[in-house]
Parts: sequence; C-alpha cells; structure tokens
Amino acid sequence: MSAVERLIRYCQIDTQSDPANEDVTPSTEKQFNLARVLEQELNELGLEDVCLDEHCYVYAKLPGNLDHEVKTVGFIAHMDTAPDFSGTNVKPRIIRNFDGNDIALNDEVTLKMDSFPWMRDLKGKDLLVTDGNTLLGADDKAGITCIMEALVWMKEHPEFRHGPIAVAFTPDEEIGNGPKYFDIEKFGADFAYTMDGGTVAELSDETFNAASAVVKFKGFSIHPGEAKDKMINAALAASEFASLLPKHMIPAHTEGREGFIHLHNMKGDCESAELEYIIRDHDYAKLQAKKELMRNALDYINAEYGEGTAEITFRDSYRNMKEILNQYPEVCAYGEKAIKELGYEIVHEPVRGGTDGAQLSFRGLPCPNLGAGGGNFHGRYEYCVINELEEARTLILNIIRLISEEV
Ligand SMILES: [Zn+2]
Repeated sequence: MSAVERLIRYCQIDTQSDPANEDVTPSTEKQFNLARVLEQELNELGLEDVCLDEHCYVYAKLPGNLDHEVKTVGFIAHMDTAPDFSGTNVKPRIIRNFDGNDIALNDEVTLKMDSFPWMRDLKGKDLLVTDGNTLLGADDKAGITCIMEALVWMKEHPEFRHGPIAVAFTPDEEIGNGPKYFDIEKFGADFAYTMDGGTVAELSDETFNAASAVVKFKGFSIHPGEAKDKMINAALAASEFASLLPKHMIPAHTEGREGFIHLHNMKGDCESAELEYIIRDHDYAKLQAKKELMRNALDYINAEYGEGTAEITFRDSYRNMKEILNQYPEVCAYGEKAIKELGYEIVHEPVRGGTDGAQLSFRGLPCPNLGAGGGNFHGRYEYCVINELEEARTLILNIIRLISEEV
C-alpha cells in the first residue's frame, strides 16, 4: 500500500467533529471508527502499549534499538475533520503530473488557479483532490498517514537505528479540544511534533497569544416620548464602544505578525447590550496593550453615559508557544535540519491561530508544528500534494535519525 492509498482509506472514514457537542469528548462517536482502525494497525505493526482510551485518544510506543540513551520523540496528528464542511462520503481523486491549470472537481465546481495562485507552482506534482462535494480530510489525515508510513518503513528496515518513539492520534482538534484529555505522562515523550501543517517546508514555532473579552452594557429604558435627559440606550452605548476601537486592528486589515481585535458577536436593545470579542497577538505585551485600549474605551463610555454603564471581562485562552520553545532550541533545530535535508528552504510562518502543540507546550511537552503536504483546508478545494506526503514520512525519519546521532 502506498502513502496515498493509505491517505485515501483514512479520508473515506467520516470523522467530522461537532462544536455543538463540545462538552463531550469525542464530540462525535464516529471518530472512534478511525481510532479503532489505527489501534489495530499499530498493533499489527508490533508497537507497544497500544491504547485507545474512552475519550478516543490513541497512544502507542516504539522502543528504541540504540546502545546509548537518547530522548523520546513524539509525533501527533488529529483524527477529526472540520465542522465547516461535510466529511461524509469523501471520494478523493488522484491527479498525476498536474498541468498547472484549473481543475474541474465536478460539472459545477472548479478549483481555479486565480483563486489559489500558489497552486500553479505545483505543476508536475501528483495531487489528491475532492469530488467537489466534501472536504478532503488531508487536515489532518495526511499527518496520520505520514506518521504511520514512517512506522511501517522502520518495521521494514530493522537495521535503521533509532531512539524510543511515541505516537498519538487525537480527537476534536477542530473544535479546540484536542489537548483536553491528552495524557502527556502516558504519551511518554520528552518533546513532540504535531504533523498538522501545509507544505513540508514549513515549521511553525509561533502561535497567537489569545484572549477573549465580553463587554456588558446596562441601559435605562423608558418611553421614548418621555426620555429626555433620562434614557440610557445600551445598544447605542455598545455601538459607540465598538466605534472607539482602532479601525485598522480588525482581522480584515491584518496579516503576518499583526494582531487584531475581532468583534464576533453582538446583541442588544435599549435595556441591555453585549459585545463579544476575541483578541489576538503574537507578542504578549501587544496583546496586553490591546486590552488596555479596550479598557480606555470603556472608561470613555462610562464617563459619557454614567459610571457602571459598561463593564468588561477578559479571559486568556492560550499563549504563544514560542515562549516555551525558546527554552528548548534543539527541538526546532531537529525540525529545521530535517527540512533542509529534504532540499527545502524553511518557511517560518507564524501561525495566525493556535495549535494543539501550543497548549501541550505550556503543559510541559514542547511541540512545534510541521507540514504533511495538504492545502486549502476545511473546504471542497482542499488538496494534498502526494509527493510532499511521501516527503513528510522522510521528514519524520530524518528527525528520528538526527536524534539518534545525539550522544
Ligand atoms: Zn488540522
């Protein structure tokens, strides 16, 4: 079985997670369908301590065969697919020797190069695409595939010297609960890599710092005909608050390392109103400065409408993993060296979001993110570069070899 055959097999198992059921892990029972397949395959490969737990986390270990001790390296991928788009009845199609032109996914849906211009550079590669009706699921079944392929390769090459290896496959990453029941101790790695990115040239060691804010407005509602000098309109106060925040600091005007303040929900009437924000920045001090801007706006509203009209509550959700990874420079160094060995220039793209690895890093498992060859995630235009999927297997083996050379 080739890597792409393995990927197709995993993609055809529907594992969509469900944010409406986020209090339960896994959020959907069907994620067990892939977990059980992986559990069986890990057992067949002769791995040790293979375990599928009640929350749908799969763990396994491959003992080392070196005469000297090295650290245990882990590889992690998630089994669920995004709730944004259907993952039912996925029918992947292989395109050999891609000609660089638009791809008709079906009679109505075309993957246009004008919309995804970087795909023109994939000319000559083999691609896996959808039939236009579902997502592909390369996010993150390409990650699972390259980890499994590396394990298969090591079984076929017992002469390959390596240290102890831990692997884990997790549920519910797409709804933010991937690390929730992740048992770091049971996993047993000193550091790890999430295989959950795009191109294999990419190493992500930076995520956003993330916080949320809820702003509540209390009004004073009386008959509009008798409202002079009495009425306080909470909805108006809320809209004024929103207008006080910098216009350029919104997701639609930011990219790269620029953070933002994003109003994602609002409701209100004269009596009461509420605004919900998420705040993001790679730089923790700048994240705090954004909170300060919001506090200043709040003070202005309270001065204008009366003390106690508005109140704000902040909640921190995750931190930039760079802070932790800086303490373990060797972890990213292995990844960078392994990418270079594949012949790529490393792409250091700061993630404009979080990763499971960010949370795990703060819980004591340093964990940058690597690519497995996919792109256009979470929708019908998703694809996987089959050549890169195979290279991602080599990338894993390179990392394992580099660690084994450590004395
Ligand atoms: Zn993913």
